[in-house]
Amino acid sequence: MASKYDFDLFVIGGGSGGVRAARVAAGDGVRVGLAEASRYGGTCVIRGCVPKKLMVYASEYRDLTQDARVYGWDIRDGPFDWPVFRQNLHTELDRLEGVYRNLLGNSGVETFDCRAKLKDKHTILLEDGTEKTAKTILVATGGYPVRPDLPNAELGIVSDDIFHLESLPKSILIIGGGYIACEFACILHGLGVEVTQYYRGAQILRGFDDEARGLVAEAMRDRGIDLHVGTNIVEMCLASEEQTPHVGSDAAMGAADDTGSQMPKEAVIAAAGPQGGPIRVKSTTGGEKIFDMVFFATGRAPSTNDMGLEEAGVKLGRGGQIVVDDHSRTDVDNIFAIGDVTDRVNLTPVAIREGMAFVETAFRDNPTPVDHDLIPSAIFTQPEMGTIGLSEEAAGEREEIEIYTSSFRPMQTAFAGREDRALMKLIVSKKTRVVLGCHIVAPGAGEMIQMAGIAIKMGATKEDFDRVCAVHPTMSEELVTMRSPTRTA
Ligand code: NDP
Repeated sequence: MASKYDFDLFVIGGGSGGVRAARVAAGDGVRVGLAEASRYGGTCVIRGCVPKKLMVYASEYRDLTQDARVYGWDIRDGPFDWPVFRQNLHTELDRLEGVYRNLLGNSGVETFDCRAKLKDKHTILLEDGTEKTAKTILVATGGYPVRPDLPNAELGIVSDDIFHLESLPKSILIIGGGYIACEFACILHGLGVEVTQYYRGAQILRGFDDEARGLVAEAMRDRGIDLHVGTNIVEMCLASEEQTPHVGSDAAMGAADDTGSQMPKEAVIAAAGPQGGPIRVKSTTGGEKIFDMVFFATGRAPSTNDMGLEEAGVKLGRGGQIVVDDHSRTDVDNIFAIGDVTDRVNLTPVAIREGMAFVETAFRDNPTPVDHDLIPSAIFTQPEMGTIGLSEEAAGEREEIEIYTSSFRPMQTAFAGREDRALMKLIVSKKTRVVLGCHIVAPGAGEMIQMAGIAIKMGATKEDFDRVCAVHPTMSEELVTMRSPTRTA
């Protein structure tokens, strides 16, 4: 019997989670529609993980070429050509977006290149005014970067903007101490920008293992990043406004506010950037400084504004996130949500897994909860941090633990005369011997933690690690050769 709906499933959002769910469901013969307001691939592919990682690679060549000379290569320093890299970057992003479009098309998903919102629990209203009905709806609209509530905050850029800059600034102030702030501090420093970073808390990368984040902070400072903790921005205005009374006074800040709020966003970015005018910033510690650019890496918010969600009965949390149960089901029985819009664990591979679990639950008669326990992740600072499980602090609160650590200078950079240190760390339950957490700060830590993560997810004990023969000479061999605990807690 023909369905009374246009689609069995309509997905709103063509990012990692939405695309995966749509094409897997379509592969099962489900009639799927998908609307994407911007570009296919979403945050990860278009303005997140992928372009960021390519920028990490670009930024690493500076040290690599210097080190290469010690290894005997006749390599000369040259300037970094941002327009060349940016052009190549966008060519690659265009290619990847094409791949995502093809994946959807080839699996039979009908796509709509426009914004979509809910009219009611079974009706989707497209931007052009047309309506589509669906038996099941999946919201996978992701999130967006937010600026702090500060006068003139529009003068600063956010992570979406960084990939489109006309030119790189000579100096930049990065606000925040999370993943994005720390990664871009390292990237931009590597590309030759003078980087200052303000973080309001006591130590960057809040929530991660203290020793590991302490080492990352130390390495960032050693490389020349001017990192200030316990510091935040309190005022900002175009430095050209300093002709007006005293900068930082109410009059000056008010004038800058007027200028900023009337300009279109692109023009503001250009004006605040190297083409236009530098920005004068006042910090909580009382100092005033001028930067070519200010970059707010102050968190992300779920994209739920003006989506018709609450009107359709979907419950939102205090942060605007869609509230879902273990099976990604909202308060409305036929509406599900996955990925960053639900603000559970905001990582691409998690959104993909949530999308797969949703298909099992909604279309394969196999209700599948999403497992959010022991998720490995990496922070692509320089050096990288790879992490899974509990930090020393969190584990110590829970039970008696042994801490195994090895801190050393990696062979490759030590040979080149660098002082960089690596850290391998295991947190072990004293009672069960199970490895509760693993934290690695080292070049390639992201690759290593993926492998260590398999063992830890399987419930490996310290003795299981010890039974594995070392691969020599590598950095990760330390993970299986740490014989006695450094300390207990
Ligand atoms: P985070 O939430 O990780 O960090 C936000 C930072 O901004 C925190 O240091 C926070 O401070 C600070 N902050 C928030 N509000 C203000 C304010 N008003 N003034 C000053 N500072 C402020 O967000 P990100 O944007 O860095 O990243 C978002 C998410 O994206 C991450 O949680 C992660 O899930 C994902 N991501 C993952 C990556 C990876 O896997 N490698 C890379 C990039 C992003 P405080 O600590 O005090 O709250």
